[in-house]
Parts: sequence; C-alpha cells; structure tokens
Amino acid sequence: MRFGEFKRASQEHLDEILVRLCAMVVSGQKKDPDRYGMVAAAVLDPDDNCVAATSYNEDGKWVHAERAAIDAYHSRGGRIPAGSIIITTCSPCSEKMDDRYSESCTDLINDTGVDLVYAGYEDPTQHESQAKFKVEVSHNPKIHELCHVFASTFMDKEAAQLDELSFLGSPCTKDCSGHRAGYAWSQARGGVDANSPWSPSFNNGARLAKDGK
Ligand SMILES: [Zn+2]
Repeated sequence: MRFGEFKRASQEHLDEILVRLCAMVVSGQKKDPDRYGMVAAAVLDPDDNCVAATSYNEDGKWVHAERAAIDAYHSRGGRIPAGSIIITTCSPCSEKMDDRYSESCTDLINDTGVDLVYAGYEDPTQHESQAKFKVEVSHNPKIHELCHVFASTFMDKEAAQLDELSFLGSPCTKDCSGHRAGYAWSQARGGVDANSPWSPSFNNGARLAKDGK
C-alpha cells in the first residue's frame, strides 16, 4: 500500500486515534501527573493494529511517547512492518534534551523505517532536520488546539513564542477544548491556577477547576 492511498483513505481514522491519544494524556494526568507526561503516541500498522502509550517519567528521565509506543509495539508484535504510521499528539523531538531518556524520537523513528508521522501539533522548537520521515499535521482545529495546549505545558517557551502569536488571537467559546484541557490539568493537581502565556482559555479552565466548578 502506498502512503498517499493510506492517508486519503483514513485521515478521519487517524484523527479518531488522535482524539483517543488526547484522552490518554488527560487520564494519565488524572492518575499521576508526576509519572505521566503530556504527549501520547501510537504505532498503527497496515493491519490496523494500534498500540499506544503516553510519555512517562522513569528515574527522573522522560521516556517520550513515541519511544513508549514503539517499545510497546515491539513487546507485543515484534518488528514494526513497512507501511506503518506513527501518530503522536506532538511531532517528534530532534534536538538534544537533558531530561530525555536516550536518543531523540526522530533518530529512533529513523531506525524503525517508518516514513510517515501524523501529528496533532508540530512543535516549532525542534529544528534539526535529520528526519527520514514526513510529518503530516491534522487539519482538525479542535485536535490541533488541544494538542497545542498539551505541548505548551513543556515547550521551550522563548523559541516557541513566534509561532504562538497566531494562537493568541484565536477566538474561544465557552466549551472549547482549551478550557477542558486547562480544567483537567488543574483538577489533576488538586485545583491550581495555570499561567500559560498563550492560552487564556487554558488558564480560564484551570481557574474554574480551582474554584471547584
Ligand atoms: Zn521525543
């Protein structure tokens, strides 16, 4: 199967998986926000087997979601077959990070032979271009916003700021995903204020949780 055909046939399916990955991030935050991180990823093979995982903290280092998903796939199904796709709420990292376990996700994915990554949000702070795969970003605005909010909790803020300017101007309705994400984030921490410089809706959601709404 060619990737183009796969993509046209199943863009909606990939978005459905992204929604499930977002839900995994939120439930990880509810379970243990110190242990589970703000990214989830999955390996989807050509037989539609989907193995997903969130990022997690192990002895002070972050095992990124792409690595966690690839590890989980290996332990279940062996080698990742050609034609598989990696789906992630945030595009793979490529640069050096002191708190990351092992090599970058880009280097790791290069080794698997996977040549398409479908992301909810493309992290503008990861510039190295050693990737041998193509990154496609979801066009679904709700998924994009939610994944963006997740990523903004850990992104290098200064480097990301330019890209964030567009987000500042985005209108937000009462029940938008930013509110919901902020609410879940705050609730997981026992009701605290958020101070995201880019997402007033995230902060407002956190405020609602803090106020016990
Ligand atoms: Zn990574």
